[in-house]
Amino acid sequence: MRIDIVSLFPEFVEQCAGFGVTGRARERGLLDLHGWNPRDWAEGNYRKVDDRTFGGGPGMVMLVEPLRRCLAALRQADPLPPRVVYLSPQGRPLDQARVRELAALPRLALLCGRYEGVDERLVQAEVDEEISIGDYVLSGGELAAAVVVDAVARLQEGALNDAGSASQDSFEDGLLDCPHYSHPVEHAYGTVPEVLRSGNHAAIARWRRQQALGRTWQRRPDLLAGRVLSKADQALLDE
Ligand code: SAM
Repeated sequence: MRIDIVSLFPEFVEQCAGFGVTGRARERGLLDLHGWNPRDWAEGNYRKVDDRTFGGGPGMVMLVEPLRRCLAALRQADPLPPRVVYLSPQGRPLDQARVRELAALPRLALLCGRYEGVDERLVQAEVDEEISIGDYVLSGGELAAAVVVDAVARLQEGALNDAGSASQDSFEDGLLDCPHYSHPVEHAYGTVPEVLRSGNHAAIARWRRQQALGRTWQRRPDLLAGRVLSKADQALLDE
């Protein structure tokens, strides 16, 4: 998969994507990341990329032209047409289902705003969708872009050492994940549940399912709202 980052600080996103699973995905050639700085397409000695907002009020706005030229160059750099995503607090909140869809695309271009954001005309003309990473305001889209890159990178086939582990993560089947334990069995903070040491795979699977259901019910009841549980799941939850 190819991801293009359009940002005044593209190195920031590239750095974030240099570690762990994301770094490995890049090393393995599963993720091809390219940074684009609209300042390189700005004119004049100062390479101006922002200006005051019409109508008055505080804050600057990212200009149409440097971004338009930057996106045109980005489109020309590879024949694959990118899906252009503007990271914005006004976008659709990102969830795992959308991450899966984005991860299946061949090419993504992530547009990071700064200041008051991007001139609306550029958004209307060039952007395919807006994505928010939560109901709070960041000073720039770079952290949000890094979140998208990380979430889609780990879903690329071959990125995770254990291919099955992503399918057991929270949200994949609409539930939160069960708790996990490792060595030592005994610790001042507690003991690893006996069932997990039993070697009884059916009992372990049942315990994990019950924990996942219970945690979801306690912590994120919204995930269960409107969901019809199977008789087996309902029985586990009622126990
Ligand atoms: N004036 C904008 C508003 O209130 O909707 C906020 C602009 S914000 C200070 C600057 C940039 O940060 C935005 O253009 C966007 O790219 C990014 N950003 C801020 N919060 C975000 C969020 N929750 N999700 C994704 N991107 C965000």
